[in-house]
Amino acid sequence: MNPLASGVPFPRAAKVALGDPQLRTNLRRATHTIRDRRAHAVGELPDWEALRTTAAAIKDDVLRRLPELLERFEERATAAGATVHWARDAAEACEIVSRIVRGTGETSAVKVKSMATQEIGLNEALERDGIAAFETDLAELIVQLAHDTPSHILVPAIHYNRAEIRDIFVREMPADADLTDDPAALAEAARSHLRRRFLSAKVGISGANFAIADTGTLVVVESEGNGRMCLTLPDTLVSVVGIEKILPTFADLEVFMQVLPRSSTGERMNPYTSTWTGVTPGDGPSDVHVVLLDNGRSTTLADEVGRQTLRCIRCSACLNVCPVYERAGGHAYGSVYPGPIGAILSPQLTGIGENASLPFASTLCGACYDVCPVKINIPEVLVHLRDQAPHSPAERAAMSVAAWLMRSPKRFAAAERLAQLGTGPLAAALGRRTVSRLPWPGSKWTDARDAPLPAAESFRDWWKHRDQTAGPQGHTHPVEETP
Ligand code: SF4
Repeated sequence: MNPLASGVPFPRAAKVALGDPQLRTNLRRATHTIRDRRAHAVGELPDWEALRTTAAAIKDDVLRRLPELLERFEERATAAGATVHWARDAAEACEIVSRIVRGTGETSAVKVKSMATQEIGLNEALERDGIAAFETDLAELIVQLAHDTPSHILVPAIHYNRAEIRDIFVREMPADADLTDDPAALAEAARSHLRRRFLSAKVGISGANFAIADTGTLVVVESEGNGRMCLTLPDTLVSVVGIEKILPTFADLEVFMQVLPRSSTGERMNPYTSTWTGVTPGDGPSDVHVVLLDNGRSTTLADEVGRQTLRCIRCSACLNVCPVYERAGGHAYGSVYPGPIGAILSPQLTGIGENASLPFASTLCGACYDVCPVKINIPEVLVHLRDQAPHSPAERAAMSVAAWLMRSPKRFAAAERLAQLGTGPLAAALGRRTVSRLPWPGSKWTDARDAPLPAAESFRDWWKHRDQTAGPQGHTHPVEETP
């Protein structure tokens, strides 16, 4: 299965998810907790908007100079002892990582949580080559033990509650049968399970949050410290890094270390930030590889409207405020990137044909744009992608007629009056001003909600005939303002 496109259209998958009340309860509780923490952490900073603007500007500069910055990163990382590889797509990236691991003679590796490795289906590819990849992030571990797929960028096991996690641990790892669902007990069980893996691992695999062009440094930002164990204990370290992760200089990191923790976990500071530059003899892995991954990013970069998507720092703030994500959950998106960012990133990485329903998985309310720390105008990109999605000839014809009507105020007013004439008797017969079932193609709307009939009086007519001395509630305003 393509990790970026399950092949199941969003409406069908969402319908299944909406039938699971436990899932909705888990999602609501978790997303509201994280969003409240974020709002508090962001509210503390008087210069939050300036930080957002700066972060967006740095990323836009990177996108303008991407080839130059990538080559500089390669040069500096290589000079520091790393080996840099270039991967055009997921297959190439998986083959490179597998070849490196096989070259060590090992048959297992420990992994730091990484969206890039999920995007390329690395665990499955390694398994086919006889290599076991063990997730070490607590939430990723839960998902892996449950033989499930992640449903959130930051909290991949957000769809499970404590009792469900306890059952997974008892079933899948050597855990005590009387393990409780107390968070501390669950964390301790995972810790002792993982410790054995860390101490025996010879190969570590990671992604990177940032790659500094000027120094050839990689940066991993995480909350548990498990990532740092994977980055420092093994002899060999392979990092798969999307090409858009580049930052020009170390100084630029300062901005992102302010916006990322506050946007993702609602923390003022990130608990564990690991940075490394190539190889340091006697300190950490002696064999360091970086795989620079394209996988559709160059195509995204070429699109004037869509390229802002590549500013994304995967903080997941947009997921936590999205009313659609909160109800449908991450699996409905059929991609490792769920929520608003997934609805614009996945179709661009795969091509709109493979993910045609995702740009429609939004109410366009704009809450995602308001919270995005790098100011990605997600609604703008959604509308842009909706236009590119395949539309039936009937829909195209209907939209052309609507556009023709709306281009002329006279035509629009005439259409409104015609609709009012037709719907008056219908509303009287129904006894209400909504219709529950329309014939096709209107049934596509009424399958999920009622359709309102046109209002008895249009806004234009009301405006023309209104009492100009009355306010919205019929209160009379003074005609002349008192100074
Ligand atoms: S689109 Fe913005 S809010 Fe959403 S994950 Fe990316 S950076 Fe965060």
